[in-house]
Amino acid sequence: MSRTVYVNGEYLPEEEAKVSIFDRGFLMADGVYEVTSVLDGKLVDFDGHVRRLERSLKELDMAAPATAEELLEIHRELVARNGIEDGMIYLQITRGSAGDRDFVFPDPAVTPSTIVLFTQAKPGLADNPVAKQGISVISIEDIRWGRRDIKTVQLLYPSMGKMMAKKAGADDAWLVEDGKVTEGTSNNAYIVKNGRIITRELSTDILHGITRAAVLRFAREAQMEVEERAFTIEEAQQADEAFFTSASAFVMPVVKIDGVQIGTGTPGPVAARLREIYLDESRKAAV
Ligand code: PLP
Repeated sequence: MSRTVYVNGEYLPEEEAKVSIFDRGFLMADGVYEVTSVLDGKLVDFDGHVRRLERSLKELDMAAPATAEELLEIHRELVARNGIEDGMIYLQITRGSAGDRDFVFPDPAVTPSTIVLFTQAKPGLADNPVAKQGISVISIEDIRWGRRDIKTVQLLYPSMGKMMAKKAGADDAWLVEDGKVTEGTSNNAYIVKNGRIITRELSTDILHGITRAAVLRFAREAQMEVEERAFTIEEAQQADEAFFTSASAFVMPVVKIDGVQIGTGTPGPVAARLREIYLDESRKAAV
């Protein structure tokens, strides 16, 4: 069944939605994005995603084509028009099309940004059976650019990382720079040692995960110990547990890193508890 998508102010059947071949998102990866989960027809952590989007736009000197209220309205309209119970909403904003290819940014007063949103239905998103088994990761070198805190559409290397993992018989990759894990290809990485949750501190080296912020808040509220610092793959392999967080996977246990089993080789209690708390609280706060 054809989806209804949103492009520059219009709701259209996906077959009729068009963006220029000169769009800078297409030619230069000059664009930012957000992915918001939908549970029971409601948006999870919407405010966090909109705030990060505004920050990404500001960091790149890109005009915001819609206010936070308008974005909420568009998200809700797409959920309703596509009958989404569980799934995701993808939003992308690019610097638009000046009608030719040029490295110089176009004048935003003349060239409006492009905004596109579409839904992805994922029935049973929160009941993913993989969360009960855990996933395996490999480590690869982090060769991405230096502003990973901006959520740009430059996803070629993360995509290559997932392919390297697949080729190695694993599910995903954790990226390593100067001997320390930065984050996963599309998620934030954590280990647990003696009950303490360890995850890299915020900087321009990693994306400031919206799920990360919520999970760390819930962990602290539940009197769990949290330490924000970088860790090595060797430390992760010797940890009691490992897991990652992202808007679409929530809290996902990691049970193998570079072929080494973590803890008992099954999802640990801290990851399981955080997943439960996150899903409960997110459903309650969803809009
Ligand atoms: N790190 C990277 C590189 C990501 O691409 C993502 C999500 O796409 C995350 C972390 C997790 O962020 P969030 O929890 O906001 O989805």
